[in-house]
Amino acid sequence: MPIAPTYRADPKFPELGPEFADAVEAAAFPATILRYRNDRAAATVGLEQLTDAEWIAHFGRFEPLPGAIAPPIAQRYHGHQFRVYNPELGDGRGFLFAQLREAQTGRLLDLGTKGSGETPWSRQGDGRLTLKGGLREVLATAMLEALGVPTSRSFSLVETGEALTRTDEPSPTRAAVLVRLSHSHIRFGTFQRQAFYERGDKVEALVDHVIAHYYPSLTGANDKAAALLAVVIRKSARLTARWMAAGFIHGVLNTDNMSITGESFDYGPYRFLPRNDPNFTAAYFDQNGLYAFGRQPEAVFWNLQQLAGCLSLVTASEPLVEALNGFAAVYRRELIAAMLDRLGLKPLGEEPDAVFVQAVFKAIAAGSEPLRWEPFFFDWFCGEAERAMAGPRAAIYETEGFADFRRLIEDYECDRPGRLGHPYFARREPEELLIDEIEAIWAAIDKADDWGPFEAKLAAIDAARRAWGLPSQQSFAGT
Ligand code: AMP
Ligand code: MG
Repeated sequence: MPIAPTYRADPKFPELGPEFADAVEAAAFPATILRYRNDRAAATVGLEQLTDAEWIAHFGRFEPLPGAIAPPIAQRYHGHQFRVYNPELGDGRGFLFAQLREAQTGRLLDLGTKGSGETPWSRQGDGRLTLKGGLREVLATAMLEALGVPTSRSFSLVETGEALTRTDEPSPTRAAVLVRLSHSHIRFGTFQRQAFYERGDKVEALVDHVIAHYYPSLTGANDKAAALLAVVIRKSARLTARWMAAGFIHGVLNTDNMSITGESFDYGPYRFLPRNDPNFTAAYFDQNGLYAFGRQPEAVFWNLQQLAGCLSLVTASEPLVEALNGFAAVYRRELIAAMLDRLGLKPLGEEPDAVFVQAVFKAIAAGSEPLRWEPFFFDWFCGEAERAMAGPRAAIYETEGFADFRRLIEDYECDRPGRLGHPYFARREPEELLIDEIEAIWAAIDKADDWGPFEAKLAAIDAARRAWGLPSQQSFAGT
C-alpha cells in the first residue's frame, strides 16, 4: 500500500476514555464514487500516494488506515444552539477515523467524517450528508484557505449512491460522505457536556489533554485552565478577525461548532458577503440575525463565556474573567493584522494601522451599494492606486467616501510585491464564491452530472490562493 514514510498515526483522543466517545460503524453504501481528493492536504500527512481504489477503500468504505482508530468513535458533546442549551448533541453523522501528525509541523490532525452513517447521537437524523452539502463544504474550505483563514480542510468527497430526503432541498437528493482534515474536533461543547454533568474531574482531564496535544507550551502553567482559556480566546479572536476580513459568514456559530484550536469548521448554510452588510445573515433559520456578519465577534465572545463557565468548575473565576476581558483588544489587533494581510501591506505601527483600518471600513461602507466585497481587496492589493484606478471600479474609488482611505494607503509599503506579478492580478475580476455561482455549479452536477464547473472552480481558487500568498494553515500552528 503506497503510504509515504511521512505518514504517522498517533491516536490520542481515545485516551480520554469512554466518557468522551462511542464506538460506531460506518454505513455500508450502495456505491462509492470518488468526487474529490485533496492531494495537497494528503501530502501533509503522507497519504498522497494512495491509488484511487485505496482512497475509496479508506474514505468511502472506511477500511482502517494503519494505526487508525478502529473501530472509529463518535464524539460526545453538548452545545448552545442559537443560545439554547442542547444536551442531546454529539457526532450524529460522523466519527473520528484517524489522528495523524502533520509532516511539516508535527501538529496533531484528525481525519473525521460527515455523512458516514448513524451513531448513538443521530436523534431523528439519518446520519447522512447531501452531495450538495458536501460540495458546498469543499468549496468553502478551499476559498477560506485561499483567503488566509484557519480552517479545516476538505480531504475527500465520495458519492454514496443513496437518495436522501431533506426539507430544505429539493428531494430526493444525492448523498455523499465527506472526510475532513482538522486540527482537532474538540469543541467548546465537549467541555460543556462534562460541566453539565458536574464532572470537574473530566473537565480537568480534558484541559490536560488539550494542553498536552494542542498547546504543549502551556504545560506546567500555574493555572492550566485559565492559561488554556486565554489561548483559546486569542485563537478564536484571530479566527473571527480572519472571517471578517474574508467577508465570510459562518452561519451557525453554536458552541458545538467552535473548535478549541481556533480552527473554523463545519460548513452548513455559510455565505460569502456579496457586498458590505453587517446584517447579512447566512442561515435561513436565523430569523433574528443572531449570527449575522457583523455580529460574529459578539457571537464568538458569547461562546467563549460559555467555555469559561465550564472551566470555572476547576479554577477560580477571577483569572477566567480577566482572560475574557482581553478578548476585545486581541480581536482589534487581529482584525488590523488580517486586513493588512488581505491588502498585502506591511504594518506601520499600532496607532497608524488602527486609523488606517478604520478608514478602510469607512470606505467599504461608503461604497457598499455598488462595491462588492472581494473586488475591493483585489483592486487595492499592495496599495497600488494606479492599478485600482485603472480597473472597472475606479469611479467608486473617486467618490468622497474613499478620500481618507486613498490618502492613508499612500503611506503603506507593499509586503512581498512580487505577488502582484502573478497573472491573477492582471485579471479585471477576482475569484469569488457567491451563492449564485455555487448554485450554478451544483445545477450542472444535479442536471447533467457535469463536474466540469466544480473542478474548474477549485482550480481557479487554487490559482488565487497561490497568487494571494496569505498565511498557510501550517502557519497557524502553536499558541
Ligand atoms: P450541525 O448543524 O451540522 O453542526 O449539526 C448539529 C447536530 O446535529 C450535530 O450533533 C450533528 O451530528 C447532528 N446532525 C445534523 N444532521 C444530521 C443528520 N442528517 N443525521 C444525524 N445527525 C445529524
Ligand atoms: Mg456541527
